[in-house]
Amino acid sequence: MKSDDREREASGQALSRLVEKLRADFSNVKIKEAGVFYWNPYEKEVGYLIGHEESALLLLHELAHTELGHEGYEWDMELLQMESAAWRKVRDELSGRYGVRFDSELALRKLETYRDWFWERSSCPGCGTYGFQGLDAKYACRACQRVWRPNDNRFKRVWRKGVDEKRVFCDFSEIDKLLQF
Ligand SMILES: [Zn+2]
Ligand SMILES: [Zn+2]
Repeated sequence: MKSDDREREASGQALSRLVEKLRADFSNVKIKEAGVFYWNPYEKEVGYLIGHEESALLLLHELAHTELGHEGYEWDMELLQMESAAWRKVRDELSGRYGVRFDSELALRKLETYRDWFWERSSCPGCGTYGFQGLDAKYACRACQRVWRPNDNRFKRVWRKGVDEKRVFCDFSEIDKLLQF
């Protein structure tokens, strides 16, 4: 057996042991092997993928969403906040509890994909200034008054019912704070 095969097998076994422990500790959550990592709050289901060096941490990340009671989000900023909170939970609690070494570069890399997505959606197609997102998810630019609806649906949006009319002004310093690991 080649040494990387052996390593893969060892990490596969470590992952199955972890999954067993998590199933016992989170008996209200269905934890199942899938083609992607995901968290489905309505089915109380977490999916994970085997064969990745990062599988254990990514699985803990999805479970962190369940622990934090994350469901839908209304504004893009909220998704960033949830992602950041889930990684903090892995760093501060879950990785220690389950003996998985935390990798802040991985967390950062994952968060950056959300940040890039956010920048892309919130910058005004007319003048490039960052806009604010209002009710019904449209963005508006304070500089040139343009209003736009971003059409990148990479992350599934789940709408909450009975939302009050309000606007979310993006606090960009907040975003940098979310990305400190
Ligand atoms: Zn996440
Ligand atoms: Zn503009």
